[in-house]
Amino acid sequence: MPEFQRFSYDVLVIGAGGAGLRAVIEAASSGAKVGVVCKSLLGKAHTVMAEGGIAAALANVDDRDNWRVHFADTMRGGQYLNNWRMAELHAKEAPECVRELEAWGALFDRTKDGRILQRNFGGHKYPRLAHVGDRTGLEMIRTLQDHGIHCGMEVHMECTVLDLLMDSGRVGSGRVTGAVGYDREKGHFYLWQAKAVVIATGGIGRAFKVTSNSWEYTGDGLALAYRAGAELQDMEFVQFHPTGMVWPISVRGILVTEGVRGEGGVLRNSEGRRFMFDDIPDNYKSQTADNEDEGWRYTQGDKNARRPPELLTRDHVARCINREVKAGRGSPHGGVYLDIAWIKERLPKAEEHIKRKLPSMYHQFKQLADLDITREPMEVGPTTHYMMGGIRVDGDSQMSTVPGLFAAGEAAAGLHGANRLGGNSLSDLVVFGRRAGRYAAEFARSNGSAASINEDQLQAVTAAALVPFERGLAGENPYQIQYDLQDTMQDLVGIVRTQPEMEQALAKIAQLNTRAAHTGIGGNRQYNNGWHTAMDLSSMLIVSEAVTRAAILRKESRGAQFREDYPNKDADWSKHNIIVKRGSEGGMLIQKRPLPPIPDELKAIIEEMK
Ligand code: FAD
Repeated sequence: MPEFQRFSYDVLVIGAGGAGLRAVIEAASSGAKVGVVCKSLLGKAHTVMAEGGIAAALANVDDRDNWRVHFADTMRGGQYLNNWRMAELHAKEAPECVRELEAWGALFDRTKDGRILQRNFGGHKYPRLAHVGDRTGLEMIRTLQDHGIHCGMEVHMECTVLDLLMDSGRVGSGRVTGAVGYDREKGHFYLWQAKAVVIATGGIGRAFKVTSNSWEYTGDGLALAYRAGAELQDMEFVQFHPTGMVWPISVRGILVTEGVRGEGGVLRNSEGRRFMFDDIPDNYKSQTADNEDEGWRYTQGDKNARRPPELLTRDHVARCINREVKAGRGSPHGGVYLDIAWIKERLPKAEEHIKRKLPSMYHQFKQLADLDITREPMEVGPTTHYMMGGIRVDGDSQMSTVPGLFAAGEAAAGLHGANRLGGNSLSDLVVFGRRAGRYAAEFARSNGSAASINEDQLQAVTAAALVPFERGLAGENPYQIQYDLQDTMQDLVGIVRTQPEMEQALAKIAQLNTRAAHTGIGGNRQYNNGWHTAMDLSSMLIVSEAVTRAAILRKESRGAQFREDYPNKDADWSKHNIIVKRGSEGGMLIQKRPLPPIPDELKAIIEEMK
């Protein structure tokens, strides 16, 4: 058996994004010994890329805001499939968590009277996003990292977890006892023994071809939990953000923040028409401006104006863009136009204003596309962005269906239902990262000594990891399998779905699974990207199959799932989540499960705000 570097913790956190770091801080502050593992360097998690802001009903800019409105907005955005308890806790606790970040040193933009400034974002009734220009995630990660180090966390950077270890020695049964993985630099194996494990590994965007997600987001955490026997939920709901770059081709998919529209940016087709006014869903009509002037006034803080249709929920805006492109009214490179430069017609010193409010967007387009957004419109189109589905957790404690295994952040399901509102992820990370850390530490304390490691399981994981070296270059090329999977998911399980196409996707995924079992690579274990890709494939294939199976089962269109063959909502499906679980024979089980009933007082809030 290969050699291991061995570590022992009360709580092991997998992932050093916002959710992971917040969990670390909470667990370590309660006295637990905490280790954190991350695939890249500390500080480089996805959270650092977050631009627009963090949603919290602080009511600093509009005093009509409060947790009840935030709760109702989140439920409406999620089309009522959300875990109501998580939506309630999130809306109530987000303000405190933002103030906590401020107390730890996060410098948010300010109102004139010195309070945290908040901006408009899609689906939020009032300006609710605390932000730092369009670099909010950077400030958040910097703050959490700094605080985490002072709480005594031990960091294992550039390490990838391959599997969770179970006391039974069998995946799918018993209590979690730790994790096994390798480091990218030397290819050495690591064993992290732990009494409780928190998964905070982020999303799955790399399973698709066009994505705003970086290389790390291969759905590892979901696959780890699935193999350990945990339930996954809402896997059909993959968010396609409406505005990614479409040109140059090398940067296709990189995000263009919703903050551009929040600051007054408008969407036009090739005929110059603001097409978003043509299709406003009934449940948003009363909250949406019906003329351009009202929409503009909303973005400038007029409390009597309603939001422009560009700030409708992401699922809807993405589909409208898709429709314009398909109808031949798109831009030259297959997108539509997003114009912020037009605000010079309304604002003095508009150029400086844009550069101050959207500095990253200005530089992104200048450097990557040689385009000055203060003068010209951008070309944008939908990009795979966020996973609403994930590990099913208890709303209060964040424990999964496997004892001792917790999940938080994008890797966990529930809060966002069928569609996430912008800004609700960063708040999700701190609210539920904090809860996961607290309850994981409590679990570790109340479950005594760490369960023993099953050496057979350890051996099986490492032997499987090394097999591609034995096949060498005669084996299947892992990169080619990855490309083929990304093409399959993009083309057949993308923004518009149909039964025959998704069945085709399932057949292709089955073939890719066979090929993935025969990957071969050359070279050695040091910084070997081919080897890393071969190991990532297993996660990407599991999440892709789960997304496809769940999308086939849900025979309706709701939130991020649009079925061309079932274009309407279905009353029965409005009462069900879809659960995915590994069967005892290893196959994927899929189940329709009724939503838990919403308490009357929360129902009343939803009704009141409809
Ligand atoms: P991440 O920050 O994604 O971190 C995951 C961690 O897990 C990383 O450290 C990674 O290395 C680690 N990891 C993964 N797999 C493994 C493994 N096998 N072994 C070990 N470690 C592993 N949301 C908002 O609310 N507001 C915004 O303005 C906003 N803007 C965004 C802009 C962009 C460009 C993108 C891509 C997303 C944006 N989002 C925004 C979404 C939000 O940033 C993410 O959903 C959120 O940061 C996810 O945080 P997380 O803590 O769950 O995971």
